[in-house]
Amino acid sequence: MKEKIHAQFVKRFGANGTFYASAGRINLIGEHTDYNGGFVFPGAIDKGMMAEIRLNGTDKVRVYSVDLDDYAEFGFAETDAPEASWARYVFGVCRETIKRCGGVLKGLDAAFAGDVPLGAGMSSSAALESTFAFALNDMFSLGIDKFELARIGQSTEHNYCGVNCGIMDQFASIFGKAGSLMRLDCRTMEYKYYPFHPKGYRLVLLDSVVKHELASSAYNKRRASCEHVVAAVKAAGYPVVEYLRDVDMKMLSEVRGVVSDEDYMRAEYVIEEIQRVLDVCDALERDDYETVGQKMYETHHGMSRLYEVSCEELDFLNDIARECGVTGSRVMGGGFGGCTINLVKDELYDGFIARAKKEYAAKFGHEPKVYPVVISDGARKLE
Ligand code: ADP
Ligand code: MG
Repeated sequence: MKEKIHAQFVKRFGANGTFYASAGRINLIGEHTDYNGGFVFPGAIDKGMMAEIRLNGTDKVRVYSVDLDDYAEFGFAETDAPEASWARYVFGVCRETIKRCGGVLKGLDAAFAGDVPLGAGMSSSAALESTFAFALNDMFSLGIDKFELARIGQSTEHNYCGVNCGIMDQFASIFGKAGSLMRLDCRTMEYKYYPFHPKGYRLVLLDSVVKHELASSAYNKRRASCEHVVAAVKAAGYPVVEYLRDVDMKMLSEVRGVVSDEDYMRAEYVIEEIQRVLDVCDALERDDYETVGQKMYETHHGMSRLYEVSCEELDFLNDIARECGVTGSRVMGGGFGGCTINLVKDELYDGFIARAKKEYAAKFGHEPKVYPVVISDGARKLE
């Protein structure tokens, strides 16, 4: 990738720049927990974004997307926003950086490329934002801390790309480390690294290549259910409860007749899922990947039957994993499509992938896409 980018950089800008990179991410466990004040458990992956950048002595950014073979040029003022949606990510990062450092940026030339599949749930957009946020901070010695770099990416999505995302993707992309997953407490923003060295196992994503339209309306309904239950528990004598994070199964059972059966089920999933993240962290400290896998299956079951955000395609992939003896498998992301994430013993890998492709294609008319991933470093400068 480096050679490909450099060839284009030299062709367009006639010079050498500095290389920066960042990564896409997976989330091993902890789904629909973020807006409930709970934990997520992401890690950066070996698929990312890379950019070659140098100061160009002007007051403009000139940036070339190698993958899209598209070029954009823009100034740093709010009114200089480029048309192309990919360029708005770069522009947004510049603007959000300026907001935090008071306008010290100078013109840049950049060429970039990546290998995070777009829109497959591995957050190619966060990889792009993090690469540029990290690079600007380094090139201009801005001294912005890492959490704020993640927020620059998040605010870019909010303010320049129309995506109202949380912080997990940018957090993972900026803080990611090879061989480590990170438990992020979405209430306090505290985080902790956990070792992830699954010797004898591989992580692989199977992309169902479907996206059901239900996703956004269902998401809002799920959030409303969580809020109903929090309100009911508060009223039942627990005034300090703020999120489902603060609710345990005993408290939930006290509002059994007060909330709807559906809301009850939703809350049950969330409370269990928050606990599962903690259980997986404990298991990793013991190198116990069998327990990790079992929790992944439990998550899938909860998302499918209690939270009801799975779909036929994802349940099918999960069933195949189970039948093949795969250690852990679950839907990753919000649901209604996208990928399953699978923890597979080396010796079962080829058979599992072959069977998943064949049976999925026979049933749904196309194969799932297969993305093996390794937990890797996040944002960095390349020497
Ligand atoms: P994801 O879930 O992968 O983050 P998004 O829709 O949030 O999907 O972001 C994808 C967008 O990010 C693309 O439409 C494009 O604008 C930008 N992007 C991602 N990867 C690249 C790339 N390699 N080159 C140019 N733009 C990219
Ligand atoms: Mg994105």
